[in-house]
Amino acid sequence: MTARVLVVDDLEPNVKLLEAKLRAEYFDVLGAYSGQEAIDQAGQEKPDIILLDVMMPGMDGFEACRRLKNNPETMHIPVVMVTALDQQADRVAGLEAGADDFLTKPVEDLALFARVRSLTRLKMMTDELRARYTTGQDLGIVGKIDASINPGESRILIIDDNEEQAARLKSSIGEDTHQITVEAEPEVALGRARQGEFDLILVNLSIEAMDPLRLCSSIRSFEETRLTPLLAVVRHGDTRKLVRALDIGVNDYVTRPVDKNELSARIMTQLRRKRYVDQLRSSFEVSLEMAVTDQLTGLYNRRYLASHLSAMFDRSFWTGRPLAIMVLDIDHFKSVNDKYGHDVGDKVLKQFADRIANSIRGIDLACRYGGEEFLIAMPDTDLAFAAVVAERLRAEIAADKFVVNGGREELGVTVSIGLASTEKGEEGDTAQKLIKRADEALYEAKTGGRNRVINSAA
Ligand code: GH3
Ligand code: MG
Ligand code: MG
Repeated sequence: MTARVLVVDDLEPNVKLLEAKLRAEYFDVLGAYSGQEAIDQAGQEKPDIILLDVMMPGMDGFEACRRLKNNPETMHIPVVMVTALDQQADRVAGLEAGADDFLTKPVEDLALFARVRSLTRLKMMTDELRARYTTGQDLGIVGKIDASINPGESRILIIDDNEEQAARLKSSIGEDTHQITVEAEPEVALGRARQGEFDLILVNLSIEAMDPLRLCSSIRSFEETRLTPLLAVVRHGDTRKLVRALDIGVNDYVTRPVDKNELSARIMTQLRRKRYVDQLRSSFEVSLEMAVTDQLTGLYNRRYLASHLSAMFDRSFWTGRPLAIMVLDIDHFKSVNDKYGHDVGDKVLKQFADRIANSIRGIDLACRYGGEEFLIAMPDTDLAFAAVVAERLRAEIAADKFVVNGGREELGVTVSIGLASTEKGEEGDTAQKLIKRADEALYEAKTGGRNRVINSAA
């Protein structure tokens, strides 16, 4: 896949020059000639990376970068600032504005391509997560992500077998800001990193105990550390090693001698991105869970049952082992609402669901099937055994009162249960027919006086 690059510079020849270089490497290139134009294009064209000139009349590159990074629509797009001067203060100002990296004019080709490739690759990984997140938002099941949050104290691992340099790095990062661990032995460091102990890993590319590039590639290849921000420390001028490292998947780098402010700013950028990705991922997991869970009771919802019951039914068919279904409906629940109010009704439903959840096995599937109606699917269970389970549950519900109003009141609840199983199924039986038989048994339990279990075979 080709990446789309937005090149921003107030001078047309500068745009044309970068454009030509990038086109020759098969990148798709767009141009913009001011900060405002960059912001507009970023919003409309959704580039994969932005190369942003610092000195422009009107809105300068720092301000444009700040605005891009503060807008939820464009904050995930990597920004590389292109600066005429290699001024340390400028670099730090840019990183603080949210820039992902710097290139110095005249732009060196190797460094340019390596940066663009590594940043766009990272973006493509987060794009997948963003797409899921957006779907969740469209469905109204995930909240907003807070882009501005400060990552706070983080756990950082320094891998360096040069004691003196490690100590210097440690003090540059500042032990009062982060929890820092130094590990001289690469294999040991890798093992610890795989335990998921760290938010960021800093590798000195001058280590001797192991090929540092192999170490970086191992960190990238293990599932547990695949997405952990990885920063390299490289000797000034060692462009070849740096380019290899970026191609392997190192996220960012600092050159020795290390500038304390630049190191801090780059660490902050990586941690912020990690926090963003973590938020995307967890919001997605939460939205998945919400999509299949009933909010009031925490049991699975009907949608989940619909997709999983047929799989359980098929498994029962192929293994020849019975699948039993229990449909439960609370008796005269309307009168609980009428007498105690809807809120108390909700609490009773929740307690009822908890009792169900506590009395079933791990392989059983319990769901809220309707308002005060529940369904339990029990694999490997014949009708006789299901009847024992159902009767025990019915008796427990009837015997143990439900506690409401903060423990001040108790109320009695009974339940009617209908049972069915695949054992009694005829040719062409389906999961739907199974539920229907259990429903019919439930209806019989209701008409027969409630607070009882009826077996569809009876
Ligand atoms: P039966 O013994 O015939 O099942 O009588 P019932 O009153 O339980 O049955 P009916 O179907 O007439 O009424 C069900 C009641 O359940 C009515 C409805 O207000 C209540 N209900 C459904 N969902 C909820 C809910 O989420 N919370 C509360 N508090 N009540 C609910
Ligand atoms: Mg009902
Ligand atoms: Mg009812």
